[in-house]
Amino acid sequence: MIVCCGAQTDRDAVHQIWPDYNGKVSIPFVIMPQLSKQYNDIMAALNMIRDSTCVTFHPRTNEADYINFQTGYGCASLVGFTGGVQPLYVGPSCTAGNICHELMHTLGFFHEHSRQDRENYINILYGNIIQGKESNFLLERGDSLGLPYDLSSILHYGSNFFSSNGQPTILPKSPGVSIGQRSHLSALDVAKVKRLYKCGESLKSFCGLRCSSVAEILKETLISRPCP
Ligand SMILES: [Zn+2]
Repeated sequence: MIVCCGAQTDRDAVHQIWPDYNGKVSIPFVIMPQLSKQYNDIMAALNMIRDSTCVTFHPRTNEADYINFQTGYGCASLVGFTGGVQPLYVGPSCTAGNICHELMHTLGFFHEHSRQDRENYINILYGNIIQGKESNFLLERGDSLGLPYDLSSILHYGSNFFSSNGQPTILPKSPGVSIGQRSHLSALDVAKVKRLYKCGESLKSFCGLRCSSVAEILKETLISRPCP
């Protein structure tokens, strides 16, 4: 949901988007030295977004607000712009696709399977979810930006994510459809970034001032298993 400068809406896809400067969104970032082995994966993830949308990134100089890539047990991110140093956790097993998934959270998107209309497309099998991880499957009140549900989204969990018993936790209603890819932004992923960040339009800052927002950390991958 976009919560900005007191102009709270009921949009639920994001909390708050990154501000533009002179009509351009270029997000500063720092990669901590401990992540030197994963430098190329991080850059590849940044390029996945940079190459297909108007959102770009640049190494931080002295900006107050920036993404800090730092080590973590898994991959994890805040949702939306928080202001200040915004951590993005990169665990040893995080791929470029995993990191891109987290960057999409950082840009302001919740998981695709948290959409209010998901029941038309997937079933959640709660009995197979690891105890304590059910929160990763909650619905979020968000803004779908007028775009259809996307089973191929990089923001969608796969069928066995957080399974306690090897059985599926999410099943698409259409048989034979695979979910949970982490190789690329889908066409609708690209479209949602472009719509949220008004690519192609003259950007006006949502927030001329720093806005407080309730960032929530996604603990989805802060566990000792491969990153969803
Ligand atoms: Zn996620």
